[in-house]
Amino acid sequence: MQISNIKKVDSQIAEQIELEFQRQQNTIELIASENITSLAVMEASGSVLTNKYAEGKPYKRFYNGCEHVDVIEELAQERAKKLFNVEHANVQPHSGAQANMAVFLYALKTGDKVLGMDLSNGGHLTHGSPVNFSGLYFDAAGYGVNEYGEIDYNEVRRKALEHKPKLIVCGASNYSKIIDFKKFRDIADETGAYLMADIAHIAGLVAAGAHPSPSPYADFVTTTTHKSLRGPRGGITMCKAEHAAGIDKAVFPGIQGGPLEHIIAAKAIALHEAAQPEFKTYAVQIIKNAQALAQGLMDEGMDIVGGMTENHLMTLDLRKHGKTGKDMANVLEKVGITANKNTVPDDPQSPFVTSGIRLGTPAVTTRGFKEDDMAEVAKIIASAIFASDDETGLQNLRERSLKLCQKHPLYE
Ligand SMILES: *Cc1c(COP(=O)(O)O)cnc(C)c1O
Repeated sequence: MQISNIKKVDSQIAEQIELEFQRQQNTIELIASENITSLAVMEASGSVLTNKYAEGKPYKRFYNGCEHVDVIEELAQERAKKLFNVEHANVQPHSGAQANMAVFLYALKTGDKVLGMDLSNGGHLTHGSPVNFSGLYFDAAGYGVNEYGEIDYNEVRRKALEHKPKLIVCGASNYSKIIDFKKFRDIADETGAYLMADIAHIAGLVAAGAHPSPSPYADFVTTTTHKSLRGPRGGITMCKAEHAAGIDKAVFPGIQGGPLEHIIAAKAIALHEAAQPEFKTYAVQIIKNAQALAQGLMDEGMDIVGGMTENHLMTLDLRKHGKTGKDMANVLEKVGITANKNTVPDDPQSPFVTSGIRLGTPAVTTRGFKEDDMAEVAKIIASAIFASDDETGLQNLRERSLKLCQKHPLYE
């Protein structure tokens, strides 16, 4: 890690970056939305491109001196189009939330109706939550999951017929089953709605063909670039050609100013990496690792919402052990495992306490963890939860997790 200049200029920040590197190196990252970028992606993120203003689109800028960032941004667009098989890609959204906001701004007027997955059932804030722009400025209704942790497509259809949304949003932040994008398309067609597929979490799996693609069905496909896609922190809004000009206008000048060309270069690199055969192997391994983790936890007598996962994540249901997500996420931190508390369907606890923990495998798979490592991770998690008050026991588990981290260093 090269931070020699930061050390010279600002020792306080340098120290925290070094400590953060140690934290990442020595803990098992199971936060399902996190990953570890390549050094190439990181170099681009810290490059001279951060100095450049480039409001507008490639070759149609409001600033001079854009000849190199034009080429970079065009490469990023072309790579996104090819990788996700879409007609248009805007690579400027600063984050996943902005990628979604651009679609809302283009496709809807204030007060229009939207149907998305409830936050408490695995949806994202930007899919109509009352505390987010998507629920504050639009009339949002929500659908959930059934007791098997699956989307009930009949319920989605019923709600769509009843609510008559102009936009239906599919895609989730916590959903462990394959999403049937064709069924969503059929519902959107029947009810006269646009369909937006937000693949923020599963983008890497979709890119590698390890999860079906929404591209043939959705009017808009949005994503983050920093989750399973393993790029820099950012977003992309994709769409059919007929919406291209409108989406571009919605991103800029609609919701953003100057694009982050250093991040766009890093996105281009990540998209190039994701098009390689090794990335396919990586994506397949993410799912194998998630399934090995789920199996290991079930073998230890733990419940997983919906049983076996079909993608990169799962939610551990702690209700029968009488433990909360909040407490157990803290216990896992003590044994060197980072994960976040999460609600389970019909959770008796509040969203700040919860009865579940979400676990995902994109980051550990990047480090080289394989199925046998995940079996050991499952044992550490179960032992920590069963013996959460035994400090010596937790100390031993911490040493076991550290061994796994040392076996698979972050950057070799
Ligand atoms: C993470 C996520 C987002 C938002 O991404 P940010 O970059 O945090 O704004 C949007 N949609 C879904 C489904 C997500 O999981």
